[in-house]
Amino acid sequence: MRTRFAPSPTGSLHVGGLRTALFSYLLAKKHGGTFILRIEDTDQAREVQGASEHFVRMLTWAGMPPDEGVMLDEAGTLIEKGEHGPYFQSARLTKYHAAVETLLKNGHAYHCFCTAERLDAMRQRQQAEKRAPMYDRLCTHLPKDEVQKKIEAGEKYVIRLKVPDENIVFSDEIYGKLSFKAHTIDDQVLLKSDGFPTYHLAHVVDDHDMRIDCVIRGEEWLPSLPKHLILWKCFGWDVPKYAHVPLILNSDRSKLSKRQGDVSVEAYVEKGYLPETLVNFLALLGWNPGTEQEVFSLPDLVNAFSLDRVQKSGAIFDLQKLSWLQGQWMRKIPLDAFVARIRPSVEEHYPESKDDPNFIKKAALIQERVTFFAEAPEMLLYFYREPSVDMEIVASKKQKIEKSDVPKIVEFLKKTLEQIPDNAWSTEAVQAALEAQIPDSGFKKGQILWPLRAILTGREYSPGAYEVTGLLGKEISLKRLKANR
Ligand code: GLU
Repeated sequence: MRTRFAPSPTGSLHVGGLRTALFSYLLAKKHGGTFILRIEDTDQAREVQGASEHFVRMLTWAGMPPDEGVMLDEAGTLIEKGEHGPYFQSARLTKYHAAVETLLKNGHAYHCFCTAERLDAMRQRQQAEKRAPMYDRLCTHLPKDEVQKKIEAGEKYVIRLKVPDENIVFSDEIYGKLSFKAHTIDDQVLLKSDGFPTYHLAHVVDDHDMRIDCVIRGEEWLPSLPKHLILWKCFGWDVPKYAHVPLILNSDRSKLSKRQGDVSVEAYVEKGYLPETLVNFLALLGWNPGTEQEVFSLPDLVNAFSLDRVQKSGAIFDLQKLSWLQGQWMRKIPLDAFVARIRPSVEEHYPESKDDPNFIKKAALIQERVTFFAEAPEMLLYFYREPSVDMEIVASKKQKIEKSDVPKIVEFLKKTLEQIPDNAWSTEAVQAALEAQIPDSGFKKGQILWPLRAILTGREYSPGAYEVTGLLGKEISLKRLKANR
C-alpha cells in the first residue's frame, strides 16, 4: 500500500493538512506500506520559503516522518529519497510536458489561445444567463495549421482537456457511489501558459508515476474528481482509489478558520500540546473507532484505522476535547520523564527545589492535574513560596463554611497536627490524625479539609489536603495555619 501526502508549500501546515497526512500514514502503515511526501510547488507565486522543510518537521514531530520522497537526513538537511522522484513537482516539468504531448496526439487535449479578457467576458455572460461558468470550447474548432501558425507567432496558449461526452460513475472510499454528468464537466486547463501544469494534470501524472494505491485528500477536491477520472482514462492508466476526507468545522459548523482559533499545527506545538494529543485528536476528527475508546496512540490508530469508518459530514474541532485529551496524555508520561521535562523551569523559579528530597512526589501530585509542562512552576508555587491567602476562598460558601467558623477550624487543625511527632510526619500520618479527630470536631470532613488546603496553598483548586500537608512538612504547615487564624 503506497499513499502520499502532497501539500503545496504556501505556508505553515494546517491542522486539516496534518489530519489528511495522518489518514494517509495510517492506511499505509496498516498494510505495512509506504508513506510518501511529495511537494506540489507548481504555483511559484504562492510559494513560501522553508515551507517544505517545515512540513517534514511537523510530520516528524507528529511521529510520522515520510518513508519516501521529501525528508530530512540525519544532519537535518532536506533531501529526496526513493525511486520514483523527483518528488518536487517543479522538477518534473518534462514529465508533464510529455504527458500533455500524448494527450494532444490522441486528441484528448487541445491548445487554447483565448485571452483573459475574452474568458472574463464569457464568464460574465454565463453568470448573467445563470449558467455555470465553463469554457465555451471556441478553440476546439481551430484547424491544426492555424494552431501551428499561432504558436509560431508567439501567441500565448494553454492546453485544455477535451472532456468526452460520457457520464461518469465512481465509488469514493468515503463518499461512496458518485455520478457526474458529462455536460457539467469543464474543459480543464492542464498546462498553463507559463509551461507549468495545473494540479489536475500534475497529481494524476505523479500518482501514476509514484504508484499510489489510494489518494487521500481534502473534500474540496471532490468537484474536480470527474476531470481527474477522465485524465486517468485518457492516459490508459489504472485509477487508484480515492478517499475524500470531510471538512473540519468550528463549533458553529462554519469552516475552520483563523478567526475562531489557531489553524496551524505549529500554534498547537508552541502552546505545548503533545504530539500524542494532537494526533489522537485529529484522528477522531472524522474517523469513528466504532467503540467507546477515545485515547489512541499512533500504533493503536494504525491497528484500529479503516477508511470505511471515516464519515462524510464535517467534523467539529472541539477545543474542550483537545484539552481533555492533552490531560490524558500528560498523565501517561512516565514520572521520571515528566520530572525531567519540568525540572529546568522549576529550578529556574525556585533554585532550592534542586535539593528538595520530595521533589518527585510533588511533581507526581501536579502531573495529575497539569495540562502543559509550562504550568509546572506556577502549580508548585506554594511548595516553595508563601502563598497569599484570600479569606473568601477559605470560608467557602459551597463547603458551608462561615467566616466566623474559621478560627475554630484552624484551632482544631493546629491542635491535631501538632500532636504528630516531627519524625513521623507524612501524608499518611496527617490523614490518620485528621480522620481520627474530625468526628469529634463538630465539623464535617469537607469543612475541615477545605480550609486546610486553602490556607496552605492559597488556592481553590490544588491536590488533596493530606498530600499537600504531608509534603509541605510540619513546620511550614503549622506556620501557615498560625498566620491565618
Ligand atoms: N497540493 C494539493 C493541496 O495541497 C494536494 C491535494 C492532494 O492531496 O492531491 O491541496
